[in-house]
Amino acid sequence: MRMNKEAASKTDLLKEPITYDLGLRGQPSLTYYPDVAKFTDLVLARAAPSLIPIAAEYRNFLSTYGLEELRSVEEYTFELLNFGTLWRTYGARALAVKFAPLRTLATLSEWRKKHQRIKPAIDVLRGVLMTVFLMPPPKQLPEGFLPSLPQVERLIAWLEATGDLREDAVRFIRWQAFWLVLAPEQAQNIVKAAIGFSKWFEEVSRSALGTYTPNVDSFSALHSDRYYWREDRISCLRSRLEYHVNMVGAEILNRAFRGVFHQTKGRAVLVPGCMRARPEGECEAERTVDGPRCTGCTPACHTNQLRALGGKHGFEVFILPHASDLSHWSAKPGDEPRGVVGVACLSTLVGGGWELKRYAVPAQCVLLDYCGCKKHWHEQGIETKLDIRELKRILEIG
Ligand code: SF4
Repeated sequence: MRMNKEAASKTDLLKEPITYDLGLRGQPSLTYYPDVAKFTDLVLARAAPSLIPIAAEYRNFLSTYGLEELRSVEEYTFELLNFGTLWRTYGARALAVKFAPLRTLATLSEWRKKHQRIKPAIDVLRGVLMTVFLMPPPKQLPEGFLPSLPQVERLIAWLEATGDLREDAVRFIRWQAFWLVLAPEQAQNIVKAAIGFSKWFEEVSRSALGTYTPNVDSFSALHSDRYYWREDRISCLRSRLEYHVNMVGAEILNRAFRGVFHQTKGRAVLVPGCMRARPEGECEAERTVDGPRCTGCTPACHTNQLRALGGKHGFEVFILPHASDLSHWSAKPGDEPRGVVGVACLSTLVGGGWELKRYAVPAQCVLLDYCGCKKHWHEQGIETKLDIRELKRILEIG
């Protein structure tokens, strides 16, 4: 029975990816990583006269007030692109919210990470509250509308309440502090530059990366009803533009974190449950303090293949439940930090990278070649995989 299901799922995938596919029709992702590296260079070159000087000024501001451990100008540039994109995607909806228990929603999304046992109940509650309060029909904003700072603040509160976009909100709160010390006109010019850059990005990213995201728009159009009342509605219905922004974001974060990651000795690769050949009740992974560890019950299982590679090259593999508390990977006092490679699909990868950074975990990331888990994406579930060559490149192993 299981074999039949697997066979059916793989046939489905070969026909059409659910939303994105780095390898195109289930083939190895031969061109994606060179393509995204080249496109990221182009984006940063385009940002040189516009966003990069703003990012550099923001970095000086953070340094002057000691607001955070300084990161690279490229990371702050990416945050501006991300801000412009999220404003364009969700700003009108955030402004349409009249009243919402924003704090309660934000707290619930933290609880579900810390209390895995009651997560299903919390998710039902979040789904209802999000649908009732966070999803009013978006306001029609006039062409060229620029948000004021109080309107930016409303967007940030909305993003935080969604839970899925909390890490984005955390970063924008600091940007907001920067904008508050500037003259209002200067702050508006920055917002305008971020929005304008996102518009340029949307256009060019379609031809640079669109091959890998053929079904994002049609998935949202066909399946949005299915996600009504569900807590994963936002993360599963993200726009094609957001997919492309996250592809570039993952590349920028990997470049920025690479140096620290390579100073670590112990390594762990964290894979999602959808990379197992067998479902949760049948997978024979053993429980450990770091999370479930594969015992190799199924030779063809993608997680088992990684485990075997880890055995040869000195890294461990753990299966990470969705929305886990990543603070676990922060080094305890006196311990050597472990380098962590996070593996996830495009809707959660960058947020996870930022969260690991917030906990000072030296991290890198590798994308799943496609999404397919049963909980969020596919009725039967499709066993997902990553590009082993990319993982080896990141770990610098032969
Ligand atoms: S091979 Fe490992 S990860 Fe795959 S199903 Fe078996 S125990 Fe689970």
